[in-house]
Formats: sequence, C-alpha cells, structure tokens
Amino acid sequence: MSKTGSISVNTENIFPIIKKFLYSDHEIFLRELVSNAADACQKLNTLSRLGEFKGELGSFKIEVKLDVENKTLTISDNGIGMTEEEINKYINQLAFSGAEEFVQKYKDKADASANVIGHFGLGFYSAFMVASKVEIQSLSYKEESKAAKWECDGSTQFKITKGKLKERGTDIILYLAEDSIEFNDTFKIKSLLDKYCRFLPIPIEFDGKIINEEKPLWLSKPTDLKDEDYIKFYNTLYPFAEAPLFWIHINVDYPFNLTGILYFPKVESAIEAEKHKVQLYSNQVFVTDNVRDILPEFLMLLHGVIDSPDIPLNVSRSSLQSDSNVKKITSHISKKVADKLFDLFKADRVDFQAKWPNIDLFVKYGMLSDEKFAEKTKDFCLLENTKGEYATINEYIEKIKSNQTDKDGNTVLLYTNHSEEQHAYVSAANSRGYDVLKFEGPLDSHFTSYLERLQEKTQLRRVDSDAIDKLVPKETTTVALLNEEEATQLKSLFEKVNENNELTFETSALSPEDNLITVTESEFDRRMREMSKMGGYAMFGQLTQSYKTILNTNHPKAKKMVSGDENADQLASKALKLALLSKGLLK
Ligand code: ADP
Repeated sequence: MSKTGSISVNTENIFPIIKKFLYSDHEIFLRELVSNAADACQKLNTLSRLGEFKGELGSFKIEVKLDVENKTLTISDNGIGMTEEEINKYINQLAFSGAEEFVQKYKDKADASANVIGHFGLGFYSAFMVASKVEIQSLSYKEESKAAKWECDGSTQFKITKGKLKERGTDIILYLAEDSIEFNDTFKIKSLLDKYCRFLPIPIEFDGKIINEEKPLWLSKPTDLKDEDYIKFYNTLYPFAEAPLFWIHINVDYPFNLTGILYFPKVESAIEAEKHKVQLYSNQVFVTDNVRDILPEFLMLLHGVIDSPDIPLNVSRSSLQSDSNVKKITSHISKKVADKLFDLFKADRVDFQAKWPNIDLFVKYGMLSDEKFAEKTKDFCLLENTKGEYATINEYIEKIKSNQTDKDGNTVLLYTNHSEEQHAYVSAANSRGYDVLKFEGPLDSHFTSYLERLQEKTQLRRVDSDAIDKLVPKETTTVALLNEEEATQLKSLFEKVNENNELTFETSALSPEDNLITVTESEFDRRMREMSKMGGYAMFGQLTQSYKTILNTNHPKAKKMVSGDENADQLASKALKLALLSKGLLK
C-alpha cells in the first residue's frame, strides 16, 4: 500500500506562502502541533464517553522530543490516531478542518468539556514554516486499522506508505530546515512549550519532565477558590510583580464563551503596568500577549488571562476590531470591570479610598476613552483635595457649590497640578475658605476638561489662575485698610518699580492674611499656550503670556508702603520679585 499524490490546492506552491505570510511568528508551529495532539486525546475521550470507543483509554500524554544530532523534533500523542483515509482527508485536503467536522458531528451529544482545540487556521501546515520535511506516523484507535506513514518535503507532492506505529496515536516528525535551526535547541523548545502550552489540558512531557498544569485556575469555580489561590496564580503569571489589589473572575458561556481572571495591579504609572500584559488564550492554548485591538486600550493596564475560543485568531488586526464577537467581548469585560469597582466602592468605602491612588489612573483612562465605562464609573470616581480628603464628583460639587461660584452662577472647582510649586496659591485659596483639588496625575489635564463637559455649569480653574478673584466672596470683606486714594498710590508704586512691562496691576481688598501680591495667569491663555505647545506650533497666532498682579489693599505691608515709608520703593521691588519668583517668572 503505497500511494503518492498531490495536495489539492490551487496554487503550485503553497508552502512558501504559508512560510512568509501566514504567521509572522514561526514559533507558533509548536502551539499548533501540540494543540492538535491535545485535540486528538480529547476526541478519543469523548468517543469513549459516548460509548463509541470501548477499548482501554489509558492515561493520555503528549511527548515532545528533540533529537539535536539529527535535527528532528517529534510530537507524539496517544489520542485518536488517523487511518490512511483520514490522513488523506484531513491532512491532504488543505483547509479541510477535521476538527470542524468533528464538532459538527458531536456537538449535540458531547458535553461542554469535550473541547476541541482547532480553529487556528492552517494548523498542521504551519509545520512547514520550520521543517524541510514532515513525516506523520499514525495508528487509528479503530479496530483492525493499519499504521500509516505520510511524508512530504514541502512541495505539493506527498507520499503515503505503511507506517510503523504499534500503539494507538500519532507522531509528527519535523526535519528542521536549515533556516530554522534556532529550534534545534532544548532551551528554546522548553521556553516555547512554557509560553504556549502551559495550561493545556493533557500532560505534556519534554526533556523528562511534565511542563504544564492541566487545570488552569480560571476554569475553576470562583466559589471553590480562596484569595490565596488567586494571588498564587498571579505570581506564577508574573513572578516578580507586587501582589495585585483585587481581581475579577470572568465566566460567560452565552452568547459567547469567555473565561479568565483579570487583576488590578498595584502600580502607579502606566509604563509600570504595561510591563506585564494580559495573556489571551483560546481553549487553554496561549495565543498572544499582544491584546491591543482586542482589549480596549485602558483595559490593557490590567493583568491576567482571558480565554475565549470565540476570538478569531488568524485574521488581520483591523478586521478584529470590527469583529462582532470581539466587540461583544470587550464591552462585556469593560462592564464587568466597572461593576466590580462599584461593588468595591459600595462594600467598603474606606478600603476603596485606600486603593484609589492605585486605580485612579486606570479609572480616568477608562472614563476618557469609553463612554459606557464613564457612564458607570462617574458616580464613584473619586476626587482628592490638597488636604487628602476624598469625595465623589457629585459629593464634591454639592460641598463647594454654595461657596465657590462666579457671578454667572458657575461652580468653580479649583485645582493644582503641582501642589509644591503652587503651594502659595493653594494656601491663599484655603485661607479664603476655598477648596483645592489635586490633579497631579498624567491624565489629569484631560480629565479636568472632561469634568467641565460632564457637569453643566462647572468650571475648573487652576489655583494660580485669575479665577479666584472672580469668585463671589463668601462674606464681604471687612473695611479696607487702604482708602481709594492709597490704593491708587500703591498701584503706581508697583508700576514704578516693575521692570517687566508685560505685567499689569490691580488692587483688591483681600483678607489681611492673604499674600500682599498674587500673580495670576488667565486660565484661558494658559490652556491655549499649553495646547499650542503640545501641538508643537502656535495655533492662535502669537500667544502672549498675560499675567495679572493683584495687590492686596488689606495687607499691613501695603499700609506701610503708602504711609510715607522711605524704603517703600525697595520694599515694593523686593516683594514683587519674590512673588514673580514663586510663580516661576523670575530665575
Ligand atoms: P485543525 O486542527 O484546525 O482542524 P489542522 O491542519 O491542524 O487543522 O489539522 C487538520 C486535521 O488533521 C485535524 O482536524 C485532525 O483531524 C487531523 N490531525 C492533525 N493532527 C492530528 C493528531 N495528532 N492526531 C489525530 N488527528 C490529527
């Protein structure tokens, strides 16, 4: 029984195409072959359960053997095996997915655990990405079937002859190609198995050791798991990372299939979080940790695993984004994440606040990029003021509303983006009874404008802007220390000693405890300037920096300066310099 033939594909030579275009990553051949082997075992298991196979199952095992001297890599399983006809059908008819047929046939009978890995596309043929010749030795589980051997050197010609296997199962033997000799390395193969096959459901032996855990944690029932289990699993995924803050166990089987565990890492910057990535699996086979396009950008700050056979794997990234399953999956995940956060908020506010610094960036990122996420999280997104007090957006506005309004009735939220540099302004605002929020995170400049859009009649003003003076004073200030004439005198004095002709001066009767001089910049101008800096060009023509200098006519020193003090000029000049210095306008 010897047979030669042509693989039925239309193009003369498909293999160079496979090699070049199908997978950019040649290493995935191992994932394909080992998952085929695992499929073969699970198929036989299913047949046995259905009573269609009455023989001894034994214990399933996949063996990967590297023969460095002969440059061969063999993947053996003791699964279902193939007869000559089946090899013809499944292997020779390219793109004919036997797995698909199997599922079709048994999907109504088999239970949910009869998973069949597959759907990876060209699966078996990916072997030609690294092998110059591939051999299959197989013996089917069926009684009285004969061992078969298939070989192919990468052309479209193949040969089927009598095989040599005595026991049920399949050996796939790869004769590694010269340009793929990097795979002729025990360490390399071990690391690939660790990467792709670590959670496969059938034991895999390589170099004398079993390399996988057969039941990954995400497939256990959440009720069977303790916190320690989740933390331990996190450590196996990311050995050097700090313990996670909390996690979400995902388990959906309708209308799509999705399992996984997502962890909130304990990190304070996006860069730190991106070091460890979410890993994507398809039926326990590692697919990628490059989940961009599958997960919304902000969810990439999370860690952990998601496993779904419903994410198409070998299609282009751009079509992934428009894939309806992918869309459903991502919106499901983002909803789950928002729900989990809300649960934590409701269950223990104090604890939630304690965790806030670590999730602040994540939540804001999510709110800025995902409307639905924002819709859910805006009720528990926390704002922190310079005194370290937290409030939700609504609570906060409620709290300051009566005190911080301008003449148009807008509620004005004051904030600092650098509490140290703007310390003088923060304490001046505080001493006038105003609250100042801390917006010092990397996304906060966007978040402040977002808040303005979110909340009607709300404005955000940086604490060193000209906003404070526009606020309606809580109580009218006590009788001014300086009369009108003296105030004009004070203004002239400062105009005289001023060396910077871009400064303008105004007088205002503030509290005696307030600074003598406050330099403010118009909020509008500053934003314009920052925007044009980001864009790298001046969008609105030449931007002049406009600073206003407010002189406090209730300050005891002001009184001194207009009361005939002979050092008045010197005093004024020094005070002005100090004020400019604190605003960073003087070096
Ligand atoms: P897929 O796995 O997506 O169906 P493959 O090209 O990887 O596509 O494999 C084609 C078919 O060849 C499989 O569906 C299966 O029927 C058969 N096959 C491949 N490897 C094995 C194996 N180790 N044991 C039994 N059958 C196999």
